Amino acid sequence: MRRIALLGATGSVGRSTLSVIRRHPRRFSVVALSARRSVAALEALAAEFGARHVALADPAALEERPGLAARGWRTGADRIVELARLADVDIVVNAVVGAAGLRPTIAALEAGKRCALANKESLVAAGDLVLRAAERGGGELVPVDSEHSAILQCVGSARREEIQRLILTASGGPFRRMSADDLERADATMALRHPTWDMGAKITIDSATLANKALEVIEAHFLYGLPYDRIDVVVHPTSIVHSFVEFVDGSVLSQMGQPTMELPILHALTWPRRLPDPALRSFDPCTASPLAFEPVDEARFPLFRLGVDAGRAGGAAPAVFNAANEVAVEAFLKGIVTFTGMPKVVEAALEALAGRSATTLDEVLGADRAARRRAAAEVERMNRA
Ligand code: MG
Repeated sequence: MRRIALLGATGSVGRSTLSVIRRHPRRFSVVALSARRSVAALEALAAEFGARHVALADPAALEERPGLAARGWRTGADRIVELARLADVDIVVNAVVGAAGLRPTIAALEAGKRCALANKESLVAAGDLVLRAAERGGGELVPVDSEHSAILQCVGSARREEIQRLILTASGGPFRRMSADDLERADATMALRHPTWDMGAKITIDSATLANKALEVIEAHFLYGLPYDRIDVVVHPTSIVHSFVEFVDGSVLSQMGQPTMELPILHALTWPRRLPDPALRSFDPCTASPLAFEPVDEARFPLFRLGVDAGRAGGAAPAVFNAANEVAVEAFLKGIVTFTGMPKVVEAALEALAGRSATTLDEVLGADRAARRRAAAEVERMNRA
């Protein structure tokens, strides 16, 4: 029985994780649960799974429910970090959205846990610090992101020097075919209609701008230790091939399957073994045909290049990119920044702050806060103009 702390239990990946666990009640138990502020949903889950430890990130979340505090429920970001270190937990599933997931990732790895990582922002903002935490504490980082799960499965027992290149696939998002003019007028409702993946709002917008794919290139760089010029991206609209690994002898492996997050989640819980899961649909190559691929159009989706360049630049640049992008997405969802305004917000923050250093957690979090302020100021400036 593997004991699980699920952080971000009420979000999209959190709910998918619980669907997987429901099908394997003798393999996994849920010891701890967290959410940002969804008290009622978390209360139902805590009762269903018998979770002993429950925390909410929002410090005010329990103000109207003092009875839950009396039952041991806790609030605040530090309490989420404590859940990641609990002695009676084997696997921390980090499905927190955004930079808030960074400290729990580091805590889980320092405490020697497996961290099933859906929070790619941890590696983007502080890849070196996360890897060092794993080394220090003996923790194990296993990706939940479908592309990185695919790469892990293809790499198998190969050594790093045997890998020539990683090729991440991108669905291209809902605006893959949209003209530059129409992109100017694209709103959040349109951007939230993802063609293949059912995900949370933040990542769905990131898929439409391709910022998500830039974040994933940075994530792959840290997970697999390859330089950026050996990590490529190709658009694959049906999301059947979840990524490729090209080896130095010219052989190319890919991992395929239906686009459902439950597959990489189950894999992250069981790796390096596999569990039979009858709920996952059998693969039919004929209905999956044809498998089509095309290059990324960087001119229409400038956040992709901005993000990859931030990764290459290193230092605080990726943390700044990530934080400014979070602010831009939030402003877009509220309708106060246009689709094509988002890259401008991020670019303004990068220009001002990308040169900062980020060798400690304090510096990373400082760069994150400064980037949020700079991006928010840019959003305001654009609205006045
Ligand atoms: Mg992904």
